[in-house]
Amino acid sequence: MKKSANVKSRQTVYIGFGSNLGDRRANITKAVELVKLIKGIRLKKLSSIYETDPVGGPPQAKYLNGVFSVDTKIGPIKLLYELQNIEKRLGRKRKAKNSPRTIDLDILLFGDRKMNTKNLKIPHPRMHKREFVLRGLRELLPHVHARGVREGYHRRKPVEVL
Ligand code: AMP
Repeated sequence: MKKSANVKSRQTVYIGFGSNLGDRRANITKAVELVKLIKGIRLKKLSSIYETDPVGGPPQAKYLNGVFSVDTKIGPIKLLYELQNIEKRLGRKRKAKNSPRTIDLDILLFGDRKMNTKNLKIPHPRMHKREFVLRGLRELLPHVHARGVREGYHRRKPVEVL
């Protein structure tokens, strides 16, 4: 019998995270725990955590950022919905663009899929511009291309390994 076209294949997904409000480390730990509880998802690897300066928006505190990978059979839209629920549960208020946040979760790569809808763009359109994303990705996926990494950033040390 042929395999049904509805049987979804397992994909490796890379998710970027950031927090610059409240107890940043606790927010990240909680978000990762909540991701682990999503049905159909298995956490694979977690990068180092980097402290970064905010980009754009009002004056605000530094971020703790990083990347983790998961194995999943759920689709990208459902995954975005689940991640946005976690952002809400951790108290994220959607205010102005680039405003401070308890937790931000972005889908960076979803297997080799490409999407360009109003609510979901994959690969994430700004991932090449964010050094912590590239550094985090390179930790998890060593062959990732280093495009966009600013001179000198390589010398910065991760602030912490979770
Ligand atoms: P931000 O405030 O930067 O986290 O942006 C959140 C918005 O970006 C949401 O409304 C999402 O629908 C949209 N978005 C588009 N592509 C992505 C993606 N790859 N991952 C997460 N959010 C995305």
